[in-house]
Amino acid sequence: MSMFWSDTARNISPYIPGEQPRDRKYIKLNTNENPYPPSPKVLEAITRETCGDLRLYPDPEASSVKNAVSDYYRIHPDEVFVGNGSDEVLALCFPAFFNRGDMISFPEITYSFYPVFANLFGVCYQAVPLNEDFTVNLDEFPAHAKGILIANPNAPTGIAAGLDEIENFLKKNRDKLIIIDEAYVDFGAESAVPLIEDYENLLIIQTFSKSRALAGLRIGFALGNVNLIEALNRVKNSFNSYTVDRIAQAAAVAAIKDKDYFNEICGKIIRTRETTAHKLVSLGFKVLPSSANFLFVSHDKISGGELFLKLKADGILVRHFDTKGIENFIRISVGTDEEMDILVERLACYINGG
Ligand SMILES: *Cc1c(COP(=O)(O)O)cnc(C)c1O
Repeated sequence: MSMFWSDTARNISPYIPGEQPRDRKYIKLNTNENPYPPSPKVLEAITRETCGDLRLYPDPEASSVKNAVSDYYRIHPDEVFVGNGSDEVLALCFPAFFNRGDMISFPEITYSFYPVFANLFGVCYQAVPLNEDFTVNLDEFPAHAKGILIANPNAPTGIAAGLDEIENFLKKNRDKLIIIDEAYVDFGAESAVPLIEDYENLLIIQTFSKSRALAGLRIGFALGNVNLIEALNRVKNSFNSYTVDRIAQAAAVAAIKDKDYFNEICGKIIRTRETTAHKLVSLGFKVLPSSANFLFVSHDKISGGELFLKLKADGILVRHFDTKGIENFIRISVGTDEEMDILVERLACYINGG
């Protein structure tokens, strides 16, 4: 700390991302990255874009990405906002839709970036406990909140609410902005995108990081009514006009157009998830029903912290949260079948006293 720090820099508690270690080679199942590479068409598009044109600024509107996303979802390009990773899009939502002192609400157990953004932008928040079964309690959000932010599927539980539940929720909360973070929706949940036409209070946020295997390029987007999108554009253009670079824009367009590859890798991940879940259940693990590319699991015999450390010592990285109510769980990203076989073999060893 120094005398030059602002009160903001002094008072915030930054988000702590999952480890990206370089000390040895791990089987990396800790940050929900895709175990498969991006589509070959994406790599070709990146190569094409790696040329002298890099001297030129990118399109500040990322129009080609907006068009590709709007084609994919059959919505209007003006209903799409593109940003530098969905983390950035989520961050921009705070100054775009909330004043200092306004209140936002989200589940107590969810993506831990949400309270960090709220603190950074001076927005108050109320965190609502999950139900006993770890589902999001859609009936208990405070009536005086100006907005509600949920991840669907939720993280780190992987549990999704159905589209009918989401629609009821939107109907009951027409006076509130409902932001749904669909980072994991492509792994088996229902997207609420078809509802944006009917609900002006709905903003959906998605990312290319997980299901399209592009975490390294940082591309995310928001979908909603044109008035919501305009607020995001106004804030973004007051902060940084060129958030998405040329290479990322070219990659994003190729990724969204290659539906076959996308379906293939999402299908593989879902199958691996289900096989792994069955094996873990046979070993006595409690496995929450996941619609995401990770499993949230616990075991009566070994604590979450201990599982995390044992796996790390064995070269397998998973995520453990030292948070009340989930301290006994570990979150395991779904890797390849080979990686999951090694994981299951190690876990079986610990459980059976190896
Ligand atoms: C991974 C993740 C994000 C962030 O994705 P980026 O687009 O890589 O910034 C957002 N929300 C949730 C719930 C996530 O798990």
